[in-house]
Amino acid sequence: MNLRLLVLVALAWVAWRFWQQWQQRRGDLRGPQPPPSAQQKPGAEPFELMQRCAQCGTYLPSTALSRSGRCGRCSD
Ligand SMILES: [Zn+2]
Repeated sequence: MNLRLLVLVALAWVAWRFWQQWQQRRGDLRGPQPPPSAQQKPGAEPFELMQRCAQCGTYLPSTALSRSGRCGRCSD
């Protein structure tokens, strides 16, 4: 009786181990999850297109350039 219980527990443990490995493999199929540090911080600005100032060549967010394609320094 005691031995049967032991075998049952061992079988359950093996089944649990297989289940965990199977779950891990399913996770691998989805591809590696990005580390938390690589994720964007909440409240951070979305990616902005960088454009080059037509005059001095400085790269700036496109929203920071004037309509003529120049940075604030050059358009003054
Ligand atoms: Zn400029």
